[in-house]
Amino acid sequence: METKEFEKLVREALGLIPPEIRRHLDNVDLVVEESPTNEQLVGSGIEKDHLLLGLYEGLPLTERSDYGMVLPDKITIFQKSIEEICTTHEEIIKEVRETVVHELAHHFGIDDDRLEELGI
Ligand SMILES: [Zn+2]
Repeated sequence: METKEFEKLVREALGLIPPEIRRHLDNVDLVVEESPTNEQLVGSGIEKDHLLLGLYEGLPLTERSDYGMVLPDKITIFQKSIEEICTTHEEIIKEVRETVVHELAHHFGIDDDRLEELGI
């Protein structure tokens, strides 16, 4: 899939987030990269044989008390990782949506353990 098309899917996924939630997104960038860098892999704490689909980097809203002039949070969606686990266009769309929601949840301070409980 072309990067442009993939980026469009990511924007659409963001558009599906209910407005009342989207409105609370504060200082966060959503970007697409082909694959994670080594640094991102290490930072994510993912196991060696796992694919990193998306990554949240930043300070969750729940941990911001004295939050001033800092770089925006960044959510990265990794195109090649997602394409690797999907065979159809529909699967890619579904996976992009789930990954965007998962990483946004981190922005709101929900950790992976809790997300697993919620099945997200
Ligand atoms: Zn996570």
